[in-house]
Amino acid sequence: METVGKPYRKTVGISGEFDAIIIGSGMGGLSVASMLAQENQRVLLLEQNTVIGGMTQAYSRNGYRWTVGMHYIGDVGSTQSAGWKLFDYVTGGGLQWTPMPSIFNRMAIGDCHYEIPAGAEAYGNLLKAHFPNQAEPIDTYLALVGKVSKSSAGYFAQKALSDAAVERVYDAMCTSFHSYSDRLTIDVLSELFSDQELIAVICANWGDYSLEPTKSSFAMHCMLAKHYMNGAHYPVGGGMAFSRLMAPIIEAAGGVLLHSADVAEIVVEEGAAVGVRMGSGEVVRCPVVISNAGVQNTFGRLLPAPVSAELGLDTLLETVTDTYAVVGLNIGFNQSAEALGFTPANVWSHPTNDLQANLDAHKAYFNAPFPWSFITFPSTKDAAWDSEFPNKATVEMYAYTHYSHFEQWAGTRWMKRGDDYLARKEVIRERLLEELFRHVPPHARDAVDYVEVSTPLSYETFAKRERGGFMGIESSPARFQQKWLRAQTPVKGLYITGQDLATDGVIGALVGGVLCASAIVGKDLMGQIRGV
Ligand SMILES: Cc1cc2nc3c(=O)[nH]c(=O)nc-3n(C[C@H](O)[C@H](O)[C@H](O)COP(=O)(O)OP(=O)(O)OC[C@H]3O[C@@H](n4cnc5c(N)ncnc54)[C@H](O)[C@@H]3O)c2cc1C
Repeated sequence: METVGKPYRKTVGISGEFDAIIIGSGMGGLSVASMLAQENQRVLLLEQNTVIGGMTQAYSRNGYRWTVGMHYIGDVGSTQSAGWKLFDYVTGGGLQWTPMPSIFNRMAIGDCHYEIPAGAEAYGNLLKAHFPNQAEPIDTYLALVGKVSKSSAGYFAQKALSDAAVERVYDAMCTSFHSYSDRLTIDVLSELFSDQELIAVICANWGDYSLEPTKSSFAMHCMLAKHYMNGAHYPVGGGMAFSRLMAPIIEAAGGVLLHSADVAEIVVEEGAAVGVRMGSGEVVRCPVVISNAGVQNTFGRLLPAPVSAELGLDTLLETVTDTYAVVGLNIGFNQSAEALGFTPANVWSHPTNDLQANLDAHKAYFNAPFPWSFITFPSTKDAAWDSEFPNKATVEMYAYTHYSHFEQWAGTRWMKRGDDYLARKEVIRERLLEELFRHVPPHARDAVDYVEVSTPLSYETFAKRERGGFMGIESSPARFQQKWLRAQTPVKGLYITGQDLATDGVIGALVGGVLCASAIVGKDLMGQIRGV
């Protein structure tokens, strides 16, 4: 597998002095490492997997390459946008983006199709063309999306502050945002719209934040809608581009990136984090430890249990829930995307417009249709693809599932989960391929050359996610009320970064990295990078 960094070898160990140790190499870990390196800090980045990159890692088999958790990114289309500036800064100006065409999402609700265009006006017009009697609430909705997203700035900024500072400003910075984040998506949309089909179209990509409208915070819905309002882009070179560009920045400041480097424990002495204990038993000391492993791992498993209990962190963890699980397919085709008739727009497919009934049916019974399926065509989106992989194409598919359908194999070892597990994977493969060929030209079936199935257990094995959660913690109203979800933790010297600090998504994890680096160096890096 292609990766930056070097493998950890317990026989060699880790030598040298570091300003910070980072546990995990997702966008949250890499971006904080890059920013600290740009502040002349020497960091040690430790990744338990055999590849650096977390969910943005690329994954190769049989001459094909897929990216695990990065299929489209919004807010990077203009050099003036916050997203573009943040990615540009952490990658040292080397990242290039390929725009997706104006139609970047196709919402398939039963047999009805809606082609979602970039731009608020075009999106509004599309919705009004399908739902002419809802024109006024559609305008109200689009205005709300902008307003709610704008109100989030203070909420995120306070996450970089110290405990003492935050007490003084928390209410002023969060009250407006909380007036929206406290509400459920379905409640606000049901007040606005009388048409269930319209709500289904607007929420068809709820998988992007992994929480259905009856449970998700309306603020999360709006932030996601705003993120993709002007369409989407794909990084040239796929997800690997991020680590390829950030690793040299980290190394130039004396930093070290190690994969196959499992951290077993955060070492705490007299209430302060003083380093980490590797799975091998080796202890690496450092006064700053940053965790990109997610709050459940950090406070629930990596901190010694007595420390978590003494600080009440174990109780705080009960206030957040992990996101849902997914199954997936990575497919390789032995013809080019052009020959197969693939186009870049993602497909979000739902069996009916009753999103809740779809979900409940599948939760209860595995053989009920997947409540949503997501189909994406990476080889059509990567400008570098055809020169690297001529006459080949790839598709990635994900579908929501419930962990209970996989619980019987929990604790089994990768590649040794048994014949009944392989049979379950075969069923997933057939069902998802069936779904795929509802949406792409049928002749593509003859070009299928390689198919690999992932299940919630893949996320447990490769990303240390409990119960297969595919993003971080759920974006429910309760999540946004957790004042303790800030970069600085109650353990002196221990910080968190990534999606659990900010929000789901690659850019959410990156914002987490910026907030964490700001907290450590005591500067407003967000303001500095954005030039505001
Ligand atoms: C299938 C899928 C599709 C997605 N599609 C998109 C998309 O199209 N656009 C988008 O913006 N977002 C997408 N996302 C979401 C996005 O990928 C994530 O929100 C984001 O990448 C998370 O970044 P992170 O740095 O917070 O965490 P991660 O990327 O999960 O990184 C955490 C890292 O910590 C490591 N780790 C954990 N425990 C330890 C330990 N004890 N020792 C050492 N290392 C440890 C893990 O192995 C992992 O590499 C998708 C996610 C998935 C799963």
